[in-house]
Amino acid sequence: MTTEKAAPQTETKEFQAEVKKMLDIVIHSLYTEKEIFLRELISNSADALEKFRHQSVMEQEVFDSNLPLEITIEFDEKASTLTISDSGIGMDRGELEANLGTIAHSGSKTFFSKLSEADRKEVNLIGQFGVGFYAAFMVAKKVSVRSRSYRLDDMGHEWVSDGNGTFTIAACPGLNRGTSIVLELADEAKEYASEQTIRRIIKQYSNFVPFPIKLKGEAVNTVQAIWALGKSEIKEEAYTEFYKFIANAYDEPLTRLHFSADAPLAIKSLLFIPKENFESLGFGRMEPGVSLYCQRVLIEQHSKTILPEWLRFLRGVIDSEDLPLNISRQALQDSALVAKINKVVTKRVLKFLGELAKSEPEKYTEFWKNFGMFLKEGVISDFAYREEAAKLLRFESSKTAGGVFTSLAEYVARMPEGQKEIFYINGPNREAIENGPYIEAFKKRNLEVIYTLEPIDDFAMSHLSLFDEKKLVSADRGDLDLPETPISTEADKEKEESEAMPAPDSVALTTWMKEVLGHQVKEVIASKRLTGSPAMVVNSDGFVTSSMERIMRASGQMGQGLQQFGGKNLEINTSHPLIKGLAALKDKEAEVAGNIVEQIFDNAMIQAGLMVEPRNMVARSYRILERLVGKQGKMEA
Ligand code: ADP
Repeated sequence: MTTEKAAPQTETKEFQAEVKKMLDIVIHSLYTEKEIFLRELISNSADALEKFRHQSVMEQEVFDSNLPLEITIEFDEKASTLTISDSGIGMDRGELEANLGTIAHSGSKTFFSKLSEADRKEVNLIGQFGVGFYAAFMVAKKVSVRSRSYRLDDMGHEWVSDGNGTFTIAACPGLNRGTSIVLELADEAKEYASEQTIRRIIKQYSNFVPFPIKLKGEAVNTVQAIWALGKSEIKEEAYTEFYKFIANAYDEPLTRLHFSADAPLAIKSLLFIPKENFESLGFGRMEPGVSLYCQRVLIEQHSKTILPEWLRFLRGVIDSEDLPLNISRQALQDSALVAKINKVVTKRVLKFLGELAKSEPEKYTEFWKNFGMFLKEGVISDFAYREEAAKLLRFESSKTAGGVFTSLAEYVARMPEGQKEIFYINGPNREAIENGPYIEAFKKRNLEVIYTLEPIDDFAMSHLSLFDEKKLVSADRGDLDLPETPISTEADKEKEESEAMPAPDSVALTTWMKEVLGHQVKEVIASKRLTGSPAMVVNSDGFVTSSMERIMRASGQMGQGLQQFGGKNLEINTSHPLIKGLAALKDKEAEVAGNIVEQIFDNAMIQAGLMVEPRNMVARSYRILERLVGKQGKMEA
């Protein structure tokens, strides 16, 4: 007649003591992220489907072999019920009792063992270890589980409980293979019987579950978890489509990194670099865009801890099956495992960028222009990756054409024998630097200087401080130690000889200039470096460059006193006609000469990119001009 065994009557059973305790906590806790119950139940369904798939390959005959493998969500807003069904492996009577009446599985076991240790900080623990199936009781006042095993001899049963100590099991004929979980929602959880809410929760947490999750006959999860596939299985368009989905983007990504690792951790990851950097376009600080998954189920969206902050421009997915599925945000922050994943992936990203620079230099340049600022931020803020990130830095230099970049390694490779340091100078653009005073001494010695054109650059250089064991030195330092000038050419000699006026007595001149400038400078020095410009301002403190000083002042991190960081020196070029003329003028017309000194200093400050109080300067320059015009007038009269 029938292969089904005779069914015992409805039986009422007690939960195992540990389950009782746990249910008590689940039901009475104030755990806020109640919506994860749906993620838990869907994950259980997906597991059951996976197990069925496995069994159906191994066994000759299974019950309901033609049912499609899927998960169905139904709801009844009026009755406040929510039903999650699957055509998975199902449970027979014994399994219902053992699986849902005792704590047998690892997640809840850990939960339970931690429970006694942790002075019952229940709220956190729910998130930390998850409660799997029991999460249903966070939102339901009554839960019915109807299940029929894939085995031919099962007849189907219903398990029912209100979570208060006991459950019943009774025969339930007429079921298809699989499990249906009916939740009678508690009054305060009625919102979960609404299409919109259900759709949102599925999309958020369970979008990549590898079986269709159907709501009103349609699958809600339509995008495949392609990161879990082999690269050869994925078409280019599928990558692009996935990127658009995960990054909420309309265009294609600049490039991607798809990799998996087995040791030390099992990681599958698919990361994208977008084309545009909206942060640099002024849209405000970018939020991190990489989400953390465990076997295709979301653990944390746009995680702040899974990668360093300076990699916040990446979009994509990191999936590790080593993560406990139910880890909470709180626990993620102090999880050693997350720190390990972070390290593995960060290293991989840096390696990838290094390879990109070699294999596709043009693409790397495009990346650098848009996202270089983040690597600089990494160099400044993240000691652990400073050296690796430094290899990825790119700059213009005196040996590159405009808009062309060099790496620090390439700079080092070009260094002539005898050069021990790497030099850089900040300026608003190439032209300003090349027409300014700082570059002169380097040009003369044929030494390459890196141009740091962004305000953040000097901070990166000063935090890095060494590259390939060579010191990074700003060219506006006062104590620069440059190699001797190479023997001057015939042309140079001729030029020197033709400059008939003798060099002034520099001690008298500098002493007098220091008197005029007062506390504005620490010292006035006859320069060994300047050739074309009359003067320049240098920092006697070796650490803070003028560019850094400008930013610190603007952000209020530095008082008005120049002395704070060791102060400035004014270097003058004693062979420049202006300085020579000044030396002569100071004894004849001290007041005008004084005005000119002030003006030279202000000009040098402007060339250093440091602001000068414009009112005084303008008034003074008018006085100087007036005198010039007056003199001309007299001469003509
Ligand atoms: P976990 O999933 O972590 O093992 P749960 O408390 O969520 O813990 O579930 C306990 C057990 O109940 C599962 O291990 C599984 O054997 C069984 N189970 C739960 N849901 C289903 C389902 N939809 N289909 C088949 N078995 C299930």
